[in-house]
Formats: sequence, structure tokens, C-alpha cells
Amino acid sequence: MTLTDIIERCQALYDDLDFGYVDEWKARNPEGKAVGYLPTYVPRELIWAAGCLPVGIVGGGDQLEIVKGDACFQSYICHLPRSVVELGLSGRLDALDGMLFPATCDVIRNLSGIWKLYFPDKYVKYFDVPHNYDSRIGGEFYEDHLHEILAELEQLGGRKVSDDELRAAIRLYNENRRLAGEVYELRAKEPWRVPATDCYLLVRAGLILSPDEHCAMLREYLELVKLEDRPLRDNARVLVVGAFCEQPPLDLVRALEFAGCYVVEDDFLLINRWLGDTVDATGEPIHALSEAYLKTPAETSSRYVDDDGRKGRYLVDLVRKSGAEGVVFAAPSFCDPALLDRPMLQAALDAAGIGHTAFKYSENTGQLQPIREQAGTFADTIKLWGTA
Ligand code: SF4
Repeated sequence: MTLTDIIERCQALYDDLDFGYVDEWKARNPEGKAVGYLPTYVPRELIWAAGCLPVGIVGGGDQLEIVKGDACFQSYICHLPRSVVELGLSGRLDALDGMLFPATCDVIRNLSGIWKLYFPDKYVKYFDVPHNYDSRIGGEFYEDHLHEILAELEQLGGRKVSDDELRAAIRLYNENRRLAGEVYELRAKEPWRVPATDCYLLVRAGLILSPDEHCAMLREYLELVKLEDRPLRDNARVLVVGAFCEQPPLDLVRALEFAGCYVVEDDFLLINRWLGDTVDATGEPIHALSEAYLKTPAETSSRYVDDDGRKGRYLVDLVRKSGAEGVVFAAPSFCDPALLDRPMLQAALDAAGIGHTAFKYSENTGQLQPIREQAGTFADTIKLWGTA
């Protein structure tokens, strides 16, 4: 296997809107079920321990024509729910036996209701998360909720799940997130070695591959990429934030790099790194998953916090840690969580003297030239004056 082989495999998974891998996995695991989930976060450990393949669904990208999906939504919301409905109604998600809709925003919550109407025979669950991070309050609610979901997944999978199986799943996903984190760390240190598109495709593959297969892929990539000699360019190091749900087209990620930006940190597919390798795999597993969620220092717009300054401080810390020289706010059009947080985050960056620029996209954005020019100007400004 070469680096090119790995990235071509990831690209093939990215391009396959029929999710052929899910059929293959089910053929290899005749008892297994497949459960889809939307961004930003669900505890994949529960799904995997129940003998089901977790499958991340992030929309249809720029290759899917929307025929029926538009009928469910008004024009002034983002593109992702339309393409998810389109994927479902066109039969592309037939291999999924269920879907989890996390509490990312009202759009995804409402989509769970639409899904129930369209697919009454499938398992459909709205996955709620606590807005209070005290173990005795939000934690109690969250653990109850996780137990409820586990019981439903057991019913779907047709078998009880032991604590040992849950702990094994926690270990596996800890390792998976650790490896994804290692790719990100290497990119932040030597961004010329790990192009933004490689990094994106690699973590994107983790949405569909089984976690053991994805771990093996990440390990192999890390081994090979360290031997690769790639030219160092005089690019500006940027952090991209706001793209945690609906994904930009791959060409947009590529355009940022062509415009002279090294993407050294991003929030494209947070589930691959959210919680890191911190979930305790020795104690009571549901409690461990709950505590990891409650206590994680990581922040994103789709997570509620009652401290206005916390997300700004987190972003500034992330800029420092990754060595970014500026921040690119890239949010899907009409994305309330990302766009409502932006002024607070910008104020925190201003106070810290960190330059930033902002644009909006949708998953099927085709006109990349204005974004490329904007990103290029931002990169030049950083290079010429040290700050944007
Ligand atoms: S892109 Fe934003 S508004 Fe749309 S579903 Fe995702 S979080 Fe919600």
C-alpha cells in the first residue's frame, strides 16, 4: 500500500453516495446492522458495541441533484437537510437500519421528525445532550438517555451488550481518536507533509469505515507519510472554524491550499477527535462516556455553554497550540449555530490580536474563485505584515 493508494481509497469512499461499503460490511457481518448518524456528535461506542456499524451522514456534497429534498424545507435554511432527505428518498440509505439525529440544531431535530414520517419502519432516535455539565444534574439526565439508547440498539441488534463489550468499544474509539489526533498534530507541525485534502479525506473515511479498519488506515498513513519528502511552501498557517456540520466541497478545501494557506487546524469532522482518548475504559462504561462528554474542554458552536467567554478562549488557545497565524471563519449559509457564535469568537480574536477573515459556503458551492481570492489575500496579508 502506498500513500496514493490510501488517499485513492478514501476518495472512493467520499465519492460513493450509494454507501457500497455498508453493503460490503453487512455481507461480511450477516448479523450486523448499520446505524447512520448526523453531525456533530453521537457516542459511536454504543452503536459499535451493539454489533452495528456507525455510518456518518454529512449530506450529499456537490454531486447530488436535489429533486425531492427541497420540498421539505424553506429556502432560508442550510443545504444539508435537503440532501440528507434526497439521499434517503432516493434509496441510497436503504442499507441503514436506523438513524440517530443529534441535538446539533433545530434543523437536525426537525429532520428527525421528517425521517420518522418518511421511514416509519426504521429505528429513528433524537439524540439529546445535556446543557448542564454537573454530573449530578446534566450527568444524571445524560446517563439515563444513554441507557435508553443502548436498550434500543440492543433491540435492533438482537442481543444484550455487556459492560466488557462497551469497554472494548471505548478502547477502540479512544485509539481511533488518538490516531486521528496524531494526524492533526503532525499536520500542525509539518503542514507541507500532510496536505489539507489528505487530512480531510482520511478523517472523512472514518465516518464510514469500521473503527478497526479506520485505525489500521490511519496507522499506515502515519507510517508512510513520515517517509515522504514533500516541498515546503511559503504558505500562511490558518485555522478553519465553523464547518463542523454541513461540509464544504472538497474543492473548497483544496482551494484554500492553492490560495497559499496551510490549514493547520479545523473543525470539519469533529466526531473523529471530539473527546480525544480520554474516555475511561476501566469503570462503568455509560458513566465514563457521560463524564467524558460533560468534562471535555473542547468547544464547538453546537454545544451549549453558559459562559460567554469560554468558546472564545478555547479558540484563542487552539490558535496558539496549532501555531496558526490567522483564522478563517467558514460557515454553511444559514447555519445558526456557527453564525451566531461568530461575533463572540471574532471579538476574542481581536482582543488577542489574531487576524481573521470570513466567508459562507454550501456543500454544493461551485463558484470557488471568490473564496480562493479572499483566502489568497488573507494569506498574503499574513505573510507581508505578520498579521491579517
Ligand atoms: S449546517 Fe448548521 S444549521 Fe444546518 S443542520 Fe448543520 S448545524 Fe444545523
